[in-house]
Amino acid sequence: MREKENYIVMQYRCNFCNAMHDVRIKKKLLESQSKYPFPYVFLHNSIKKGEAKELLTILYIDRDGRVRGQEIQEFGNDNLFSREQVMAMIEPLMKEIRFLRQDNLKLKKKIEELKNNH
Ligand SMILES: [Zn+2]
Repeated sequence: MREKENYIVMQYRCNFCNAMHDVRIKKKLLESQSKYPFPYVFLHNSIKKGEAKELLTILYIDRDGRVRGQEIQEFGNDNLFSREQVMAMIEPLMKEIRFLRQDNLKLKKKIEELKNNH
């Protein structure tokens, strides 16, 4: 695990490609979970037997940024997702939106402060 600014880079062995992948997550996201391990969802491309595939990947990450489990599903046209998978996809996005809102408010406040000092 390497730390780079606001991000943590983790490596995990992918069950599908049978290869090591890097995955980068925000420290804030790692620190702001209410339960561990938490699901982290992303898409990754895999080439197997000359065929490229897009895979829905859910990694279960613990408090220390270690990958505890994974769930990989091929993306097809007829995929149906379970409630858990959908929640796992949406939750990090909702958190991200909250962070962006907070940053936005902070910046606005700073701008106001700067204005008042002139
Ligand atoms: Zn893979």
